[in-house]
Amino acid sequence: MKNVNSQFSMTPHTVPRFDIKRHQTKYCTIEGCGKFTRAGKTFCSNHIEHQPYVQRVLGRIAEREDEMALVIRKGTRGVDVQGVVAKEILDYIRVHGERTTSKMAKEMSIEKDIVMAYITVFKRRRLVRLGKTSRGIIVVKVA
Ligand SMILES: [Zn+2]
Repeated sequence: MKNVNSQFSMTPHTVPRFDIKRHQTKYCTIEGCGKFTRAGKTFCSNHIEHQPYVQRVLGRIAEREDEMALVIRKGTRGVDVQGVVAKEILDYIRVHGERTTSKMAKEMSIEKDIVMAYITVFKRRRLVRLGKTSRGIIVVKVA
């Protein structure tokens, strides 16, 4: 009987070694919070926005919105070719190949006027080419 027990008691020793590392209890570092966190994170779910990754994502969202606001105000003069929106649109074209601006706008959830402004600038800089479908609809292609 003693043997069986000691055999069972071996299991928690071997398995959790890895588990303990993963689920090490950590507490939220926000002053006055002290809630324990998931998966050893530095912040609890209430303070998740302090997580560096979340900060970066939020930063990128703000940047994206600022860039688009500028295009709405200034049209093609507001286009930042090095910006996150420009990169997003160019990546989209590279991945999907030929696309109409309407479809691009819809699939990327960007207003069509904004897409048009970017495409106009990209075309000027020869980053994209424009073509037409048999029905005369303009399509954007990789340059
Ligand atoms: Zn917290």
